[in-house]
Amino acid sequence: MALPIVAIIGRPNVGKSTLVNRLAGEQTAIVHDEPGVTRDRTYRPAFWRDREFLVVDTGGLVFNDDTEFLPLIRQQALTALSEACAAIFVVDGQSGPIPADEEIAEWLRQQPVPVLLAVNKCESPEQGVIQAAEFWSLGLGEPYPISAIHGSGTGEILDELLNYIPAVEDVPENNEIKVAIVGRPNVGKSSLLNAFVGAERAIVSPISGTTRDSIDTLIERDGKSYRLIDTAGIRKKKHIEYGTEFFSINRAFKAIRRADVVLMVIDALDGVTEQDQKLAGRIIEEGRACVIVVNKWDAVEKDSYTIYDYEKNLEQRLHFTEWADTIFVSAQTGQRVEKILEFVNQAAESHKRRVSTSVINEVLTDAVSWHSPPATRGGRQGKIYYGTQVSTQPPTIALFVNEAKRFNDNYRRYIERQFRQQLGFKGTPIRLLWRSKK
Ligand code: GDP
Ligand code: GDP
Repeated sequence: MALPIVAIIGRPNVGKSTLVNRLAGEQTAIVHDEPGVTRDRTYRPAFWRDREFLVVDTGGLVFNDDTEFLPLIRQQALTALSEACAAIFVVDGQSGPIPADEEIAEWLRQQPVPVLLAVNKCESPEQGVIQAAEFWSLGLGEPYPISAIHGSGTGEILDELLNYIPAVEDVPENNEIKVAIVGRPNVGKSSLLNAFVGAERAIVSPISGTTRDSIDTLIERDGKSYRLIDTAGIRKKKHIEYGTEFFSINRAFKAIRRADVVLMVIDALDGVTEQDQKLAGRIIEEGRACVIVVNKWDAVEKDSYTIYDYEKNLEQRLHFTEWADTIFVSAQTGQRVEKILEFVNQAAESHKRRVSTSVINEVLTDAVSWHSPPATRGGRQGKIYYGTQVSTQPPTIALFVNEAKRFNDNYRRYIERQFRQQLGFKGTPIRLLWRSKK
């Protein structure tokens, strides 16, 4: 999910850059290199109250003979508008409306984007109201007197702007957590499912999933719904065809893709096998949250070192154990089975978590102070301008840097570790996107 974009439009010298600076503060301009976004506009992150957005300055709208936009600039403004959720049209309150403003207004009225009218350079409150009133004639609704230099009036227009900026929290939330139970044959997936369902008095009837490869079962605990995506049931029917060892890894892959949280079930008696590693790799690739469930713990002869040995084995053979929780259970006796859901809740929460830009940059500033980016042979040093979380599920953080290739794997891992240490994200993979600023 990308941040909403607000386009700043107006003729030259009305104060667009000054306004952008005020909205974005010290944050450096960035250039997106994502598909669909051309490289020639600069975006700057800004926030107002609890909303974050990017502001893009379209450059001054210049006219031919005062009647027509220069084609290139028109194109640029159109592109900016097409991706914007709202536009702020800036005019100069000291000069009053001029024909060029009317041209732009007429053009803006034809665009499908909501437009707010900022009458800039209105330093004096009393006069500002009078200056602003002159711009009603543009037919764009209420003119807001502001002073980009002093910041007066910007709060009012930003409050109005919030009506057009989608709030991240407004994204309809489906509270159901989709949980895929994956693992090799005979690790105890069906037993685990039965343990979940059996523990609940009123058994919810299984409902068919969207594919015929898995059967979904809905359960509820403490007011929360879980959709268990089980890949075992169908396989059982195919015993005759394939024999008990048949293991459709593709079926497991499909279940992983549909899930929020994957329960990666491992047989305590066998430890981690190559097939388990393959599933683990896919969980990371798909960016799913994960809980490692070591089943048949009842069947293991234990002494005080056993857990420690198991954890070590897991650590060596599964590279995500540092962020995924591991739980030792018995589907047969029911031991700790319910506790799995607590880990699922936490993993699902981390997976959906959104961290504000200011917190991310605090972590970055700190990380860089402890350990500055490596200098390359040429002597030039990597520089991180700032970071911002661009999406969730999994949490994805874009880092805007002078040149991405100056940051080696070691340093990238260091930064990722810092995010984990400072922000948690227990149970979910996180992604860092290193973006060069040209
Ligand atoms: P742009 O070309 O639209 O980006 O305009 P700028 O932000 O570069 O500003 C053009 C000129 O207007 C500069 O000299 C600014 O100092 C001045 N200016 C910008 N905002 C204000 C304001 O709120 N009040 C006054 N009095 N001058 C301003
Ligand atoms: P699936 O193929 O992954 O669905 O595995 P099943 O649930 O069918 O279990 C395979 C075998 O392991 C069955 O014989 C189960 O009784 C046994 N099993 C499953 N869970 C446990 C457990 O926690 N402890 C022990 N000792 N056996 C288990």
